[in-house]
Amino acid sequence: MGQKINVAVLGATGSVGQRFVQLLEGHPWFKVNELVASDRSSGQCYGEVCDWRVSDAMPSSTRETRVKALGDRLESQIVFSSLPGGLASTVEAELAAQGKQVFTNASDNRMVPDVPLVIPEVNPDHLGLIESQRRNRGWSDGLIVANPNCSTIHLVLALKPIWEEFGIEQAMVTTLQAASGAGYPGVPSLDLIDNVVPYIGGEEEKIEHETLKLLGTVAGEHIASAAITLSAQCTRVPVRDGHLESVSLRLRKKAAIPQVVEALESFTGRPQALGLPFAPERPIIVRPELDRPQPSLDRNAANGMASVVGRVRECSIFDVKFMVLGHNTIRGAAGASILNAELLHQEGYLTAS
Ligand code: NAP
Repeated sequence: MGQKINVAVLGATGSVGQRFVQLLEGHPWFKVNELVASDRSSGQCYGEVCDWRVSDAMPSSTRETRVKALGDRLESQIVFSSLPGGLASTVEAELAAQGKQVFTNASDNRMVPDVPLVIPEVNPDHLGLIESQRRNRGWSDGLIVANPNCSTIHLVLALKPIWEEFGIEQAMVTTLQAASGAGYPGVPSLDLIDNVVPYIGGEEEKIEHETLKLLGTVAGEHIASAAITLSAQCTRVPVRDGHLESVSLRLRKKAAIPQVVEALESFTGRPQALGLPFAPERPIIVRPELDRPQPSLDRNAANGMASVVGRVRECSIFDVKFMVLGHNTIRGAAGASILNAELLHQEGYLTAS
């Protein structure tokens, strides 16, 4: 590929924004060109204003970049949005109307009927909604594509091969979610150390609704939801990165545990077939040990882009149960958006306005 495509990161100083900056360093197709944050940060150099919390050093190429404000004109063709919910929907729609291709992590647009909510291995066919999105809104080059909530992504990656092979009637999931999922500074340390908080506002609804859209089918200009009864309970635990989820499923077709493991281990999708730069070789890694996956040991599997499943076994109430773990700011957020952008690039959706 010749010249790289310029990208802007909205919310660049936050937990997810910093991941974008880290992950895009040296990307073969995309180059960070603009960084946008609130009035607190705009007008100052990224290196001065960003309280960098990622283990690698801040890329030197961004250290001197002057942070823009939301109202400033953006030159970049691609916009990665990690803005807070509530603020994102208007801003993202305005940018798409200007011809920008917007990849959003915020929840605002995920359940909007003409916005594809995409995990590239799971439902790349949902990108077909872009045609009606552009037609309905009068956009020629602009578009909005969303990636799911950080727990939903790992849950649905694990559900997809089981859903395809055996069908799923009912699912129960209990999450143990890391502190960084609440952004920075997030949950006060005195609320989280030596504790588990059994409530994360809006999270259970997001998991329950987004999963059914992701596993649903294209029905003209919207997605018909998958027919699964799903119940989610969410907790915040004193872990830095990596959401762990306990999952129980009632299957449509009976399956022996080795068949379930085989379905998970052999699962690949469009990113692997296309050889996209951020595609993990295996989107799901199944660990055989009795005490895996664990956040501190497994969250960086395949550079944080794989979901790690373990303890696949029979369930005495439902049919099968297992644990799944994944990195919440990599495959659960910034890495997911980047993989979506790579897929659209490869599928010919990214055109300069
Ligand atoms: P965060 O750490 O609180 O960062 C928020 C970012 O938005 C900061 O860069 C902040 O800039 C900027 N911002 C806040 N108000 C703004 C305004 N009025 N105008 C312009 N910029 C503004 O949050 P986060 O965890 O990165 O989450 C960002 C988004 O991603 C949220 O929608 C969240 O739900 C979603 N998400 C997060 C995760 C996760 O694991 N953390 C996973 C998936 C999705 P300043 O520094 O200048 O204030």
